Amino acid sequence: MNEILFIFILLLPVAWYTGFRHGKKSESNNSTGRSQGLSKTYFTGLNYLLNEQSDKAIDTFVSMLEIDSETVETHLALGNLFRKRGEVDRAIRIHQNLIARPSLSQDDRKQALLELGYDYMGAGLLDRAENIFKELSVNFNHKNDSLSQLLIIYQQTKDWNNAINTAARLDTPSNQDHKAEISHFYCELAESALKDNVYRDALNYIKKAYSADKNCVRATLISAEIHYSKARYKQAIKCYRELLKQDVAFLTEAIDTLTNSFEKLGDHKGLMQFLSDALSHGSGNSTILAYADALQRQQGDKQAADFIVQKMDSHPSIRGLLKLIKLHIQHANENAKPSLEMLFEVVNQLLKNKPNYHCRQCGFDSKTLFWQCPSCRKWGEVKPIKGIEGE
Ligand SMILES: [Zn+2]
Repeated sequence: MNEILFIFILLLPVAWYTGFRHGKKSESNNSTGRSQGLSKTYFTGLNYLLNEQSDKAIDTFVSMLEIDSETVETHLALGNLFRKRGEVDRAIRIHQNLIARPSLSQDDRKQALLELGYDYMGAGLLDRAENIFKELSVNFNHKNDSLSQLLIIYQQTKDWNNAINTAARLDTPSNQDHKAEISHFYCELAESALKDNVYRDALNYIKKAYSADKNCVRATLISAEIHYSKARYKQAIKCYRELLKQDVAFLTEAIDTLTNSFEKLGDHKGLMQFLSDALSHGSGNSTILAYADALQRQQGDKQAADFIVQKMDSHPSIRGLLKLIKLHIQHANENAKPSLEMLFEVVNQLLKNKPNYHCRQCGFDSKTLFWQCPSCRKWGEVKPIKGIEGE
């Protein structure tokens, strides 16, 4: 009801102006007659409003407005207000009504068209919105607004080729952000090609992802995965070395494939050296645990446990604690075993409820890695969580 009252107030000066024009047109000098002409429609609407028939009140107020250069702004404001209230049908009707007027100037028509595009977006009519934004994307004043909306549409419909072309056309003070986005769009195409087992296409898309953003972590991970699946273990390891320079936090995504690549080559020393290098690059818990696992396989449980204890000072972690308990259970006497097993279960449950990933933009937490944050829709902002509860 409060918003309807706002519309009533918004229309008050326009209603007065419209009545004034009617009066002028009739060339009547009778001011009482003008005022009565205005009152009839306006107060009919007000009557609906007071009787809580808001739908009829709004329709009456809208029909009261003439469209000319003086009232276009009011129509646009009214349409936007309806859209924001979630009444997209009404917003569409107002904007379509505006556009249909032949007397409307070209600039006003384009502004109304832009608003109609937003209405269609709100209503989920993406194909209609796409047609409007395509038309406006060649207009200087509305180019970036239209391209931004087209980019949203193409991401929603997973039309990555059009998303790439659209992002490349966007003018921004620094188009670095779009370069990162474009590299993700190429990665989407690469992953799609991988699902169809078309490896050559996947590798071509990866090359294009790098040309958009040479530090694209996702391209490196996909590239390593392709090499690994084709038993090219040395090339896979080369990709992981690149990952250390790009963003060591993402090594946690590759730790199993990395370990397996070295094992397939029978290169235990190489694995230990790599993990050691990763730790000096700032890699976290998952690397410590992979190192402990490798020690356990080669030298036994005691060396693995000693290594974790030694690292716990600088890298305290729940996962490290869990591994440590597991190692001790195997060597505990029968009296201590049940307590250690219970402790293991409690710590394990604690870990199960913790998120693994965090969005740097909006704070969204999740158990799985999203390259595009489901909350703020930004690309490449969700990262593995480090620290005591992390990876
Ligand atoms: Zn986010």
